Amino acid sequence: MRAAVLEAVGDLQLRERPVPTTGPGQLLLKVHACGVCRTDLHLLDGEVTVDQPPRILGHQIVGTTPDGTRLGVPWLGWTCGRCEYCASGRENLCPNARFTGRDIDGGFAEYAVADERFCFPIPDGYPDLQAAPLLCGGMIGYRALRFTGDATRLGLYGFGAAAHIIAQVAVHEGRRVFVVSRKGHELARELGAEWAGTGAPPEPLDAAIVFAPVGELVVTALKHLAPGGTVVCAGIHMSDIPTFPYDLLWRERTIRSVANLTRADGEEFLALAPRVPVMTHVTSYPLEQTEQALEDLRAGRVTGAAVVTP
Ligand SMILES: [Zn+2]
Ligand SMILES: [Zn+2]
Repeated sequence: MRAAVLEAVGDLQLRERPVPTTGPGQLLLKVHACGVCRTDLHLLDGEVTVDQPPRILGHQIVGTTPDGTRLGVPWLGWTCGRCEYCASGRENLCPNARFTGRDIDGGFAEYAVADERFCFPIPDGYPDLQAAPLLCGGMIGYRALRFTGDATRLGLYGFGAAAHIIAQVAVHEGRRVFVVSRKGHELARELGAEWAGTGAPPEPLDAAIVFAPVGELVVTALKHLAPGGTVVCAGIHMSDIPTFPYDLLWRERTIRSVANLTRADGEEFLALAPRVPVMTHVTSYPLEQTEQALEDLRAGRVTGAAVVTP
């Protein structure tokens, strides 16, 4: 089979690989689509470490089993089930967790193997391409959204794959959405955002989710926050956050991060998505152009989500 393989930091190659074989509890999936995520860029650039290259990247897999069942595979690929985090419903923090497309070969390939317990049935209404971005941008974005509590005025900083999904969920929940980003303002307003621009939103925010991997935006978001508000950092990697006056945090403002997802997050989000209904805007690339997809994402040339199809 063909696969996009990370050989070393900065070195992604299209390779011919044997079709993988399954172990106990694993499923072989014929890959139909695999979403491209900002994390794939961090892996390529070495900002998030791949411990044992070569590794097939890609952690938003939509594929079918040999008996035709359509399943999705997310970033969380395996957890130990024994540690204090697994035992307390926080498997996203399991120190022994293995992640798809980092510790386990991922979906930028014609076939992938996944642990059956970490796969999700894909809602029927979603074609393969439209479903793929739900598996990371959607699921982890949804976890980030839950950490904003009952915030009415919600700011989204950066408007890529995750934000364009979460804007729709937030509007569905009756929140008012304000988008601060360099691009995508038109799409943001189309999806129900009340305001989209590059400067400060027209009124203070009750919560902000920072999707872009830019530490300065955490301070920017704090400046836009009403007392009691929260800034949620949704990415796995971010440039350093500059120092800022304590006054910006004072009055019970909080900053927190979101790490990975639990299977419960995934189930909840996939049940909710068709009810919104979340519509994903997708640009597809053949497997041969995986690197191009990543570079387009890096350059901000992708509107909505990029998806690779083998
Ligand atoms: Zn991701
Ligand atoms: Zn564990």
